[in-house]
Amino acid sequence: MLASACPGWICYAEKTHGSFIIPHISTTKSPQQVMGSLVKGYFAEQKHLPPDRIYHVTVMPCYDKKLEASRPDFFNQEYQTRDVDCVITTGEVLKLLEQEGVSLPDVDPSPLDTVLGGAEEELGTHGGGGSGGFLEHTFRHAARELFGIHVGSIRYKPLKNKDFQEVTLERDGEVLLQFALAYGFRNIQNLVQKLKRGKCPYHYVEVMACPSGCLNGGGQIKLEGESSKEELQQVERLYQSPRAEIPEENQAVRELYQRWLGGWASGRAQEVLHTRYHAVERENSALNIKW
Ligand code: SF4
Repeated sequence: MLASACPGWICYAEKTHGSFIIPHISTTKSPQQVMGSLVKGYFAEQKHLPPDRIYHVTVMPCYDKKLEASRPDFFNQEYQTRDVDCVITTGEVLKLLEQEGVSLPDVDPSPLDTVLGGAEEELGTHGGGGSGGFLEHTFRHAARELFGIHVGSIRYKPLKNKDFQEVTLERDGEVLLQFALAYGFRNIQNLVQKLKRGKCPYHYVEVMACPSGCLNGGGQIKLEGESSKEELQQVERLYQSPRAEIPEENQAVRELYQRWLGGWASGRAQEVLHTRYHAVERENSALNIKW
């Protein structure tokens, strides 16, 4: 299975390898579009508002997220509204603040809130790096559910470069799980070649279009005077500094599944949290890309 959170990768897969690669891609919506469904669905219901009365803005690390939000799959025909109405990058947020003459350190902090109700007391994060932690979460879950093994720390084995790494679960010398992360198009092309030759040994691959993943996304703020390597290390440190949570242990997530989605594997969860992909015919030119 190939991760589905990165629209840069999905667009490439649909345009370049279409019907060959699509069946291998997880149908789970990206975090942005899951949030779109929650805001225009769950949150709208909580507020007794129709979805078209809510304007949903996300702040994202890349411009591809704008294209993702504009896919017809994420348009509500009944209410003529998108699940995500506006996407701005972190760099654009800074530019907007500069245009308004506002400096973030001078702004009074306000309490965090959450779409799932109640006030968050502190900012949370997830384990598994700055691109969503899909590999680590799926690896731990699969090890526990399929083999009854609780995984402690995860050891990555770099392959060709730091953006192509492997993680394995072994028992008595037998490989039970073999996962990988492949970031950047050079590694993605390598991965696709392996798949085409029938020589891809991985059960799951966290695929991301940007080298170094989302923290290095094209829409991120570029700091003056810092080398891109130092800047990335600083962003990684900051991203990992909040307390990491395990999603299924979060009480609000549990309640959401129980009350609104009707259980972990319900038909409603399938409908709300999953999407589909579309092979783009080869005759479409670069000026006629379908999203
Ligand atoms: S890897 Fe890059 S293109 Fe893909 S979602 Fe992250 S920032 Fe966007």
